[in-house]
Amino acid sequence: MKPSVCIIGAGIGGLTAGAFLAKDGFDVTILEKATTVGGSAGFYYRNNRRFPTGATIAFGLEEGGVLKNLLAKLGMNPPFMELLHPMDVILPDREVSIYKDKSEWEKELQLSFSERKEDVLLFWEKLEQIGEDVLSVTKSEVSLPIQRIYDLGTLPSFAVKNPLSLARLAKYTTWTVEKLLNAYKLDTYMPLRQFLNAQLVDAVQTDVSKAALLPSSVALSIYRKGSFVFENGMGQLCELLEEEIRKKGGRVYLSSPLKDVAYDATSKQWKVESRKCNSTFSTIINNSGVSFGDKTSYEADDFSWGAFRIDGTVKVDILDQLLGKTLPFAYQIVSDNPHVNKYCHNPIYVTFHQSKNSAGENVLDEVMMTISVHTEENKWLQLSKESYNENKVLLMELLLEEVEKNFRLKEHLLFAEAGTPVTYKKFMGKSKVGGFPLTITNAVLKPRSFRTNLPNWYIVGEHTFPGPGTLSSALSGYYVSRAITKEYFKKSEH
Ligand SMILES: Cc1cc2nc3c(=O)[nH]c(=O)nc-3n(C[C@H](O)[C@H](O)[C@H](O)COP(=O)(O)OP(=O)(O)OC[C@H]3O[C@@H](n4cnc5c(N)ncnc54)[C@H](O)[C@@H]3O)c2cc1C
Repeated sequence: MKPSVCIIGAGIGGLTAGAFLAKDGFDVTILEKATTVGGSAGFYYRNNRRFPTGATIAFGLEEGGVLKNLLAKLGMNPPFMELLHPMDVILPDREVSIYKDKSEWEKELQLSFSERKEDVLLFWEKLEQIGEDVLSVTKSEVSLPIQRIYDLGTLPSFAVKNPLSLARLAKYTTWTVEKLLNAYKLDTYMPLRQFLNAQLVDAVQTDVSKAALLPSSVALSIYRKGSFVFENGMGQLCELLEEEIRKKGGRVYLSSPLKDVAYDATSKQWKVESRKCNSTFSTIINNSGVSFGDKTSYEADDFSWGAFRIDGTVKVDILDQLLGKTLPFAYQIVSDNPHVNKYCHNPIYVTFHQSKNSAGENVLDEVMMTISVHTEENKWLQLSKESYNENKVLLMELLLEEVEKNFRLKEHLLFAEAGTPVTYKKFMGKSKVGGFPLTITNAVLKPRSFRTNLPNWYIVGEHTFPGPGTLSSALSGYYVSRAITKEYFKKSEH
């Protein structure tokens, strides 16, 4: 019989690992603290509405895309919609619309960055070329750091066929985005810098000065490579992965946080205690992002952001003021209000999309709104109850005011509620969400392995290679499942 695997956390990384292992015949059990699956890519119910907990846009679902390929391996082909105009970035003095279409995008770059249009076009062309090379290497399924031969995926044959692509990448391994800006004498050109910072902080959790060029080149071109939404949000994909696991005989226990876990060296089994499951397992995958004892996750290793969010509903009439424009799915607003910057970090990420009730049905005449920003967890965790409530109301008002500057929001607002790192901690067990910053050290020099020093204990999700985001977390889930499967077959051959 194949080993039993316990996965702590039903985030997209844990669910992907679970779906692959269940498909390969492993006995999979997932323990999830929350009442729904998906973690930061999930959903929650409030006021008879289904709100996203975090992620709204999926990537890698284009033909031949990384997520599309992973789902195909699982025999899954869920329906989704492509966004041809995924985002508008509103800077203090201008607006940049991101379009999928190449010629529309190049026109936009020239218009928005007219002062330096030739250099910006050249910079962007180089960035996209590096991004393409990185994506091709990613498709070889190489998992860093390479510790076993199978971590290489198909990289060796890729290298034989594409030596130039690898040579080009080698040059940029220790470059930041700022160094590339510098090469085009654009490092002091503020509008472009502000635009890139907004995109990078959301995607790689740091700005041009520290962001490693290799993963950032993908992050900056990925909206145009393909941005996708599911009708019922990212949570729908997570529910489908959960269904796959159950279909293959696996179990997913919701509202069942891990309470205790201990290794028995004699039986070589992990004894696991949770609300709904007390059992022993030969292998543990920790997707929760929190440690249970010594080095069982990475959360203490580096700075990670927390999130402050406002979820709400607005009357559909809010869209009337935008008539005549093609509407993006999301907005990034870069605020120059010092009060906002005291509590959180730009950009303010805003989405307006179809409102869904708890049954997943469309709510007529209503649009769902999400507003989220990066914030530091220690600005919230150590406050007294009064200061916490005061700060929460204050930041909520400040952010609504910033949105009001761009849309007449207040007259259309039906319902709004704010969540802080304390809220994430309460419902998801962790206050740092979104993963660690992809600096040169984290992304290239010391990528975080899914392996640990503990026997048969693996880590999966945004805290491991390749890093933050739903696509990377799903990919890390696949890498862990590949390792567990390969190790099992190696042992059974002996
Ligand atoms: C506001 C916001 C917006 C985002 N937008 C996007 C986007 O548009 N596109 C995108 O690609 N990415 C986005 N991201 C990032 C993306 O959502 C995450 O990087 C990704 O979903 C993390 O997945 P994960 O596998 O690491 O698991 P996580 O989502 O971190 O899930 C961990 C799970 O473990 C559970 N858990 C915790 N403690 C325990 C315990 N003791 N026992 C059992 N279970 C436990 C939690 O409840 C949770 O379900 C966003 C993130 C945030 C916060």
